[in-house]
Amino acid sequence: MRIGILAVQGAFWEHKKVLESLGAECVELRQKKDMKDLDGLVLPGGESTVQGKLLRDLDMFEELKKLIKGGLPTLSTCAGLILLAKEISNDQNVYFGTLPVKVKRNAYGRQLGSFSKREYVQGIGDFEMKFIRAPYIEDAGEAEVLAKVDDKIVAVRYENQIGLAFHPELGGDDRIHRRFLSMVS
Ligand code: GLN
Repeated sequence: MRIGILAVQGAFWEHKKVLESLGAECVELRQKKDMKDLDGLVLPGGESTVQGKLLRDLDMFEELKKLIKGGLPTLSTCAGLILLAKEISNDQNVYFGTLPVKVKRNAYGRQLGSFSKREYVQGIGDFEMKFIRAPYIEDAGEAEVLAKVDDKIVAVRYENQIGLAFHPELGGDDRIHRRFLSMVS
C-alpha cells in the first residue's frame, strides 16, 4: 500500500509516522512527479492558503484534483479539509471543491488557538480530538456526519474522502488511520 502525503507545508511528518507504524509505504508529495502509483492520499493540517498557493506554483494542483475526483481514498485534516471543501464561508477561495461541505476557517477564533476534546466518532468510538486553529463544518450537505463537538460538525465522509477538523495524527491513537487504510485496501 503506497500512501502519498502532501508535504509542501504543514504537519505531514506526523501522519507519515503513524501510517508507517501501521505498515504502509509513504511517499512525501513535493512535486508533480511524486504523484505516481498512489493507493491513498493524505492532506495534512497547516495553512490552507499557503498550501493552495504552493500547489498551483508547483503545478501539482490539477493532477491532485484529478486523483481525488477519480476516487483515490483521501484523508484530510484541518487545512486539508479546507482544501477539499466546496465552499468556505469566510473566505472567497475554493481549492479542490470535491467534498460537498461548507466549512468555516479559524472557526473557534484566533484566541482559542488549540484545545482538545474527547468525543464519539462514528465507527471508531470515543476519540481524543486535538484542534489547532481549526475549521468546523457549517453544512455537511450530502456528506455523512462522523462526529460533532458542541453541536458543530467536525468529521465527515463522502465517497472516497474523509474530512476532519481535528488532528488524528497527534495523540497516539491510530484508529482513524487504521480505518483510512481499510478504505485503501
Ligand atoms: N487555520 C488553518 C487554515 O485556515 C488550519 C489550521 C490547521 O491546519 N491546523 O488553513
